[in-house]
Amino acid sequence: MAVPKRKTSPSRQGMRRSHHALKAEAFSECGSCGELRRPHHVCSHCGHYDGREVVGAGKALKGAVRA
Ligand SMILES: [Zn+2]
Repeated sequence: MAVPKRKTSPSRQGMRRSHHALKAEAFSECGSCGELRRPHHVCSHCGHYDGREVVGAGKALKGAVRA
């Protein structure tokens, strides 16, 4: 089994973890209802994507998709 030759120093450990911070989630405004939504995602508030309704929010799914 491969084993590390040396103990990782606190400095090295910190350098490795310098990339571990979480970034704030990206968001943009929905074009139809103005609610904040994630970019390139269907709006969870009104179900619109790219200017048209693709998911019926709170409605039966099959009726909204085929309407
Ligand atoms: Zn919306």
